[in-house]
Amino acid sequence: MSSYYSQVFDRRPSVGVDVGGVKIGGSAPIVVQSMTNTDTADIDATVAQVAALHQAGSEIVRITVDRDESAAAVPKIRERLERLGLDVPLVGDFHYIGHKLLADHPACAEALAKYRINPGNVGFKDKKDKQFAQIIEMAIRNDKPVRIGVNWGSLDQVLLTRLMDENHDKGGPLSAQEVMQEAIVQSALLSADLAEEIGLPRERIILSAKVSQVQDLIAVYTELARRSDHALHLGLTEAGMGSKGIVASSAALSIVLQQGIGDTIRISLTPEPGGDRTREVQVAQELLQVMGFRQFVPVVAACPGCGRTTSTVFQELAQKIEDDLRRNMPVWRDKYPGVETLNVAVMGCIVNGPGESKHADIGISLPGTGESPAAPVFVDGKKVKTLRGPNIASDFEAMVDAYIANRFGNTGQEDPN
Ligand code: SF4
Repeated sequence: MSSYYSQVFDRRPSVGVDVGGVKIGGSAPIVVQSMTNTDTADIDATVAQVAALHQAGSEIVRITVDRDESAAAVPKIRERLERLGLDVPLVGDFHYIGHKLLADHPACAEALAKYRINPGNVGFKDKKDKQFAQIIEMAIRNDKPVRIGVNWGSLDQVLLTRLMDENHDKGGPLSAQEVMQEAIVQSALLSADLAEEIGLPRERIILSAKVSQVQDLIAVYTELARRSDHALHLGLTEAGMGSKGIVASSAALSIVLQQGIGDTIRISLTPEPGGDRTREVQVAQELLQVMGFRQFVPVVAACPGCGRTTSTVFQELAQKIEDDLRRNMPVWRDKYPGVETLNVAVMGCIVNGPGESKHADIGISLPGTGESPAAPVFVDGKKVKTLRGPNIASDFEAMVDAYIANRFGNTGQEDPN
């Protein structure tokens, strides 16, 4: 019988695809990716946002290529990123005229690590297969992989109408929603078959089938996974803003990921005005981390607080430690190998504080209301110190830094034990 953990890590076998040096599918870890929202023709803004997304943890970044100016900017963006030492694969997002842009801008076709095309709008209906074929041929010539990305908002209407007619002729066994789900799945699979017939190897095809409703996403990806072994890109499209977008994406993706389905994910969040685009990368990392698929940053466990805590010291300390750890990760990854496995606990009082802190690598139980102003610190399950006075927070931060240096850095610093 499988244990809980073996079920978590039983991934669906898929054909691995190399995207500019980042492997998607096969036995590779689930890849985090994101997309810019700058005008790609604005080279400065796009380079800055790609760099920010990559530094936040996006392993692949997609950019819009919608017109000649943006296609002409792509090789310059690539060059600028390389000069900054950022080797992040760029994916070109093409709609309607991708065949023309790739043909007219060979440097763009070369600079991109992958082409994303949408079978629902790859061209005008009567020329559709020809234009689709042109893009696939371009990918073959340039040794590039392609994501065939179906989106329910731009679903192939000819296919949908045919499936609706067939369903009607059979007496309507499927609901309209089920017909739509089947059309999405078929659009992806038929397009993949066509790409293979043209000569694109399976090792260069990734599929996605994005919908905006959680139940549709679960149904569509479960079926897609059952009927193919292509690498799958997961994402809930138009997930929405703020907590709604995060909850909807997490709910949908976690159910599919738990079935072992999904080789790369993107969390599509509508940023608040002036909001930080990197938020979607952080959410994607946190989703994979809390599910146990990957570890990106040390975990900080903090209690929610209650009437036993009248100060916000522990919340502020937990937030500060989490922010510091995340900010330091780009440097620490090299300096302290394995630091992402660290567990820190910051607890509000004696009720659960000592217990939770003992389970962490390093933890503190701050004094709750009415307790003596003493904060025991636990390291590797043992109480090593009791902090007191006005500098409890900064003293604990120093202990966390020393613990990291001692355990992961082999720097010869004093052991906090
Ligand atoms: Fe409340 Fe203490 Fe539990 Fe935190 S650990 S939620 S402060 S009882």
